[in-house]
Formats: sequence, structure tokens, C-alpha cells
Amino acid sequence: MSTLLIKNARYIISCDDRDTLYERCNLFIRDNAIEYIGPADRQADQVIDASRMAVYPGLINTHHHLYQIFSRNLPEVQRMELFPWLVTLYEVWKGLDEEVISLSSQVGMGELLKNGCTTCFDHHYVFPAHAGDLLAAQFRAAETLGMRFHASRGSMDLSQKDGGLPPDSVVQTIDEIMEDSQRLVRVWHDPDRFSMRQVALAPCSPFSVSGELLRESAKLARALGVRLHTHVAETKDEEQFTLEKFGLRPLAYLDRLGWTGPDVWYAHGIHFNDEELRRLAVTGTGVAHCPISNMKLSSGVCRLPELLELGVPVGLAVDGSASNDGSNLLEELRVAYLLHRLQNSKTAPTGYDLLKVATRGSARLLGRTDIGYLAAGMAADLFLVDLDRIELAGAQFDPMSLLGTVGLKGPVDYTIVNGRPVVQQGQLVTVDEAALSAHANECARRYLGRI
Ligand SMILES: [Zn+2]
Repeated sequence: MSTLLIKNARYIISCDDRDTLYERCNLFIRDNAIEYIGPADRQADQVIDASRMAVYPGLINTHHHLYQIFSRNLPEVQRMELFPWLVTLYEVWKGLDEEVISLSSQVGMGELLKNGCTTCFDHHYVFPAHAGDLLAAQFRAAETLGMRFHASRGSMDLSQKDGGLPPDSVVQTIDEIMEDSQRLVRVWHDPDRFSMRQVALAPCSPFSVSGELLRESAKLARALGVRLHTHVAETKDEEQFTLEKFGLRPLAYLDRLGWTGPDVWYAHGIHFNDEELRRLAVTGTGVAHCPISNMKLSSGVCRLPELLELGVPVGLAVDGSASNDGSNLLEELRVAYLLHRLQNSKTAPTGYDLLKVATRGSARLLGRTDIGYLAAGMAADLFLVDLDRIELAGAQFDPMSLLGTVGLKGPVDYTIVNGRPVVQQGQLVTVDEAALSAHANECARRYLGRI
């Protein structure tokens, strides 16, 4: 049993049901949970002096492709939109193996943790034959870094010869996918409170999987009690694809295959019409908002103010590193704030609204009731920011909106996951950052054939 006291915090931004802002209070952690927030002092094994700090709930990333860390900033794809970008990059991704997955996951999780993110969902959907046990490599990476991790058994069964986008070498049969999905859920999925590892089923997108795979995945996920995720309404190309092939818009197509409901969330969700937004709200189907990727790939702007107004579950996400090109959810929060200010002015979410999207909203997408805000009985996932850093001088009047309106220009001071400090003084404590970076660069050069 261990105890940790966050002592005399200047502010604790709880994001709880009453939007409580604590001033000059203590936060006491026993093992992996918050036991107390308030003025009383407590003895603890470890004490962090938070007298200059703001304490925030850990951010939750609801859509990533960590393997893309090693295919970011490639000059040949920088002027492309989604479909040609994917077709070009699949030629790189078909060379994935366990080492690439392990090191890219560690690098991405490291950057996420250094920027206040405590839980990450990764959408992995490229499984080349003989590439090894890729999800096992990801769960080991998360354990090494100390991150709460939701993996996905993604899938593709529609290759170029069947009218899809990916090459033949990265698609699998439905039987192979179903069998491996069951195995991974059995081995890795922990549904309990404070779980550090979960698995979702996540066929890639309507233009790389068959309708049968979508239907079978939905059936299996519900039988196993796990969640469902895919890319939807990201581009106009996708809309044209489902209209031409099935005579339906993307949401109607997915709805028909059992892909709406409170256990389903989509990445992007940009090109929905008014009726479709209402359908999301009625069914409780969620959206992972990925503003930087959407800007980079010229995909469009998600109708976030309307989604929030209608009560659609919305979380924040960085998307894959090849379309971002990084893993910084704090940066995403600030970009989201600015993007919707540009688009909407009066109805745009505030900085604090976006903090709640990145915490409570994201937790809802992952089906978690134990993370997303700070209160006694919740998981001890949080991060601390020294308010006396020079970039924040003169900007301390609204700590609740600060991360959106001003943003952070460097790593957070502390990140605590499941009661354990994994970032201290802005540095990862679980790995040697310089050694990891050197190893990752060496692996990336081999993988990309650029030695
Ligand atoms: Zn994506």
C-alpha cells in the first residue's frame, strides 16, 4: 500500500459534476485511487509541493495510430488528401513488425504522458502476415511507460482487387479476424474498475472493410462486452464511396449494419447533415474529434458546437501521427479551441468546455466511469502545471480555461497515472528518453529503408 499527497495545490480543476474549482487544497491518493480532496492535511509516503501548481484531470486520447510515428513528416505525402495519402503510405506500413510497433508505441505514449495524457486508445488495423503479436507489443510498451491503455483489434478485408484501398498483403479473412479478436479480448481485456488495459474491436473504415466484416464485428463485440470503433464521415471521398457502392450515406450504411449505439464511437465525424447529428444524439453514438489531422488532410471541420449542443458524446483525439504529426493532446485542445473560434465565434466551446471534452467526454467514449474527473473514489490520473512558468505570467485568472485560451508551450511538470508519478519535472521517469529516442530513430531508418 502506498500514499501520495498533492499538498497545498494552488488550484484543483476537478471537472466534476458541479465544476468545482478548489483553491489551496490537498489531494490525497491511496494506491491507485483518489481518497480525499479538501483542506485537511494528511501524512503520506510521498509528498508533492503543489503550492505553485494547477492540478488537472488526466487527458484521455480517444483515437490514435501509434505505428504512424515512424511515417510522419515524409516529404512525399505532405500535399495529399486522405485517399491518395493512404494508398501511398500502405506501401510503407506493410513492412510493420513487432519492433516498429513497440518502439513507435513507446515514443508516442511518452509524448502523450509528457503532455498530460494519462489514457490512450490506439486504433491499430494493419496486421501484415508474420508481423508478430502486435497488440502484445503495445500492451508491453504501455506497461513500461506506465500508461492506461485501450488497444483495438482493427481489421481490413477489402483490398484493391475488391475495390478497397489497401494492398492485398495487409488484409485478412473474416474468420482470421474474428478468431484473433476473440483471443486478444480473452488475453488482454480487463473490464474491472481502474483497469489499465482494455480491447475494442475496430474495423478500419467503410472503404477498407466489407459490410459482412462490420456486421460480424458488431455481433462479436456485443457478445464479448467490448466497444466498437471505426473511422466515419472523415471525407467527401468516403461519402461518395458508400453512395456509389451501397446507395447510402456513411451513417445510414453503418446504422443498417448495427453500428450505432452507446457502445460505438467514430473517429472524425465531420460530414454529417442535421438529421444525422440528431441520429447520433438519439442513439448515443460518440465522436472522437481530431482537429489537427482534419486540418492537415484538408478533410473539413467537425460540427463540434452542434454535437455538444445536442448532447452527442464527444471526446478529443490526436489521430495518427502521420496526419498530425505528433502525439500531444494538449496541443490538440488548444487547436480545437482556436479552430472553432474561427468557425463559430458565439457558439464556439470555451477553453474549459474543451478540457471537459478531453477528459469527461473522452472517458464516456471509452465507456469508463472511473476516469475523466477528480473526486474521491476516482482513479488517480492527473497532471500538474507550474503556474509560475514565464509563459503563463499574467494569465492566471482563469485556470479552468487556461489550457485552451493560452495553452502550454512545454511539457507538464508531473503526470500521475493510477497513483504513480510517471512524469516528474517534465521528464519521463519510467524510461531513459535519450536512449529510447536513439533506438527509435535507428529502427525507423531500417523500417523506411533510409539507412
Ligand atoms: Zn485515424
